[in-house]
Amino acid sequence: MSERIVIAFGGNIMLRSGEDGSVEKQLEHVEEICEFIVAVIRERYSVVVTHGNGPQVGEIMLKDEIAKKRFPPMPMDICGAESQGMIGYMIQRYTVNQLKLEKQSYSMNFPVITVVTQTLVDACDPAFRHPTKPIGPYYTAQQARQLEKEKSWQMVRQQAGYRRLVPSPAPIDLVESLAIRTLFAEGWIIIAAGGGGVPVVERSDGTLHGVEGVVDKDNTAALLGNIVDAETLLILTGVDRVALNYDEPDEKKLDSMTVEEAKRYLGEGHFPEGSMGPKVAAAVKFIEGGGRRAIITSLGHGLVALKGEAGTTIVQ
Ligand code: ADP
Ligand code: MG
Repeated sequence: MSERIVIAFGGNIMLRSGEDGSVEKQLEHVEEICEFIVAVIRERYSVVVTHGNGPQVGEIMLKDEIAKKRFPPMPMDICGAESQGMIGYMIQRYTVNQLKLEKQSYSMNFPVITVVTQTLVDACDPAFRHPTKPIGPYYTAQQARQLEKEKSWQMVRQQAGYRRLVPSPAPIDLVESLAIRTLFAEGWIIIAAGGGGVPVVERSDGTLHGVEGVVDKDNTAALLGNIVDAETLLILTGVDRVALNYDEPDEKKLDSMTVEEAKRYLGEGHFPEGSMGPKVAAAVKFIEGGGRRAIITSLGHGLVALKGEAGTTIVQ
């Protein structure tokens, strides 16, 4: 039986800041990502892919904002599902194409599928009372005040303007976990829980309802890893290694850390909330949930990191 791996790509790998977001540019990055996925398959791993969607869902919401006089804007959960389908489709097509171009014996009809995923969250999660995640377009101070009044949105001031703050509840389970596990056992390459999955709550009658919020994609990646019983969680982001005293003169890059060390460093504030913190926390959660190792590195170092020769590896 081959080793099971969950690969989590940052949303910024596909749509990078400073780029125009043209389809050509995005597909160039998708191709890089899919070359990587196929390289990992070649190493005989069974692969589940997940990804961020911050820049993409931000763009969908911005388009809605601009077009709102003509078309009613969609709620966040539907925008999130749209981004999962869009990104999933691109990864699906390029991964299959890559496999076909290699003319590997296993490449014909190689099954790749996107599962648009709902992530169950608790309606009583304290995160709903304290929104922390800035999303969507930037507004002027006047627009921000109006939105606070009209829609009861919570707004936050950032460098480029005001943005909406939404809750970031913890993922409890994936609604499609049985489908994901079944397909994975059958040998499918699965793309799931993009953007952390669409957050849904369950009412007392058992029905599911989308909520306005964002589940952290690294947190969901750890859950996804435990659901498919993966040995490895590979988190690909903007740096080769996790560092202590990041960006300071005494910065120290880490080859490895134990779960206990990771928790201590988290407590000491080495890894900020909105960026590296959730990744290290996800690594800890994945291993405590039964995973063997988590690796945090960049796309370019991913393959070498799997051999233990790059990146930061977190183990028990
Ligand atoms: P992603 O889109 O992959 O989720 P984020 O920007 O959210 O990426 O988080 C990764 C970034 O966190 C890195 O690219 C780096 O700039 C930053 N970072 C913050 N603290 C650290 C740290 N201690 N070690 C390494 N990188 C860090
Ligand atoms: Mg992030």
